[in-house]
Amino acid sequence: MSSKSITVEKQAAGQASYPLLASLLDSLDRPLLVADRAGQILFANLQGRDALQARGLEPNAALNLFRDVLQADRDGILGQLERGEQVVNFPLETAEGKCRARIHWLPEPDCLAVHIEPVPFLTEVPADHATMRQTVQDLMQEREITYRNLLAAYLRLQEANRQKTVFLASAAHELKTPLAVMKGYYDLLLSGSLGKLNDRQKEIVGESKESCDRLVRLVSMFLNYSALESGKLILQLRENDLRDCIREITGRWNDAFQRANVRLEIQIHPDLPLFKFDYQKVQQCIVNLLDNALKHTPAGGSITLAAQPHFWERRAGAVSASQDRRRDESQYSNSILICVTDSGGGIAPEFHQEIFEEFVRVDPSSTGMGLGLAITKRLIQAHRGKVWVDSEVGRGSSFSLVLPLQVD
Ligand code: ADP
Repeated sequence: MSSKSITVEKQAAGQASYPLLASLLDSLDRPLLVADRAGQILFANLQGRDALQARGLEPNAALNLFRDVLQADRDGILGQLERGEQVVNFPLETAEGKCRARIHWLPEPDCLAVHIEPVPFLTEVPADHATMRQTVQDLMQEREITYRNLLAAYLRLQEANRQKTVFLASAAHELKTPLAVMKGYYDLLLSGSLGKLNDRQKEIVGESKESCDRLVRLVSMFLNYSALESGKLILQLRENDLRDCIREITGRWNDAFQRANVRLEIQIHPDLPLFKFDYQKVQQCIVNLLDNALKHTPAGGSITLAAQPHFWERRAGAVSASQDRRRDESQYSNSILICVTDSGGGIAPEFHQEIFEEFVRVDPSSTGMGLGLAITKRLIQAHRGKVWVDSEVGRGSSFSLVLPLQVD
């Protein structure tokens, strides 16, 4: 397992939301584990994950602090803490030799924080070094307080983040039904079955329907976001035809493009194979890119949506392409490349990474929540693919998605 991936899902989501705090905790030079009262490991910093792995333990949801790490009686340790002991020290054998686990109880988030440290050398210091010993002890105590404050702040933020996600999800869920009803009525009006509309009425209802569609997309974005945040996203991987997926989108978006006077060109490679992907999720990703492109392309501009087979060399730092490999690449595709290219205002290079983070908007006056690209990135990564942008200010943008043909 990579050092970045804590396998306890709810914590992994929280960690992604607070990269600064998580990396501060990772920068501690001692292993730190956080567990709930039952012993389930909720968090392990980088050193902590290494320490667990050195003992042959994987930091996942099944791992228990008392049973697997300390191999100690849970009730005994909790009893000591409940009787008011600030810290319970527990001897531990590690690859580095004899250590001790210092177990604290953090009352507010009701968690146990465990620092693993070598048995202090201070007992071996001669008695006449008492002053030095005192200073070192003070420093260590100070450091421990800092650890604890940092950790408590991290856990509080994580809880606030969880509550925000739950709120967003339930608000989005409540909006789903009324929006579906509104959309249905707009369709009914536009179909003419409730009476013929004149051109002006058609235009107004058409625009209202477009706004309603935008709200539906926003709601589904929130629902996907909260599913991603809480680790509940499940991909429906089925063999699908990307051509159908794209045609459906363009059918729905033609009117919006016409109204905006932006030309939409579709380039689908004739040899696009069927492959396994989550139809709805990939469709949402393409729609997010198309929606952005349309928002940022002025009237008279053009947008191209292209899909083609692609060779993707995953290995980082792979040797530069040899003649042989180039020949292979032309014959062998292992993925599909989807590009949405626009002739809009473009994006400055310093934002090329940042725009894929949650709630980031380059121009705060533009409409949107700054979630579309973040969700797109995470959905594509869930397919084991990747997404990036090539763009120059004043020369438009090209967003690319790569989806592997074999997901597992
Ligand atoms: P939003 O919902 O605000 O559009 P996104 O995550 O989809 O959020 O995009 C983040 C930001 O990236 C946008 O606010 C916009 O500033 C910028 N952006 C995205 N796509 C484009 C594009 N095609 N051209 C120019 N800027 C773009």
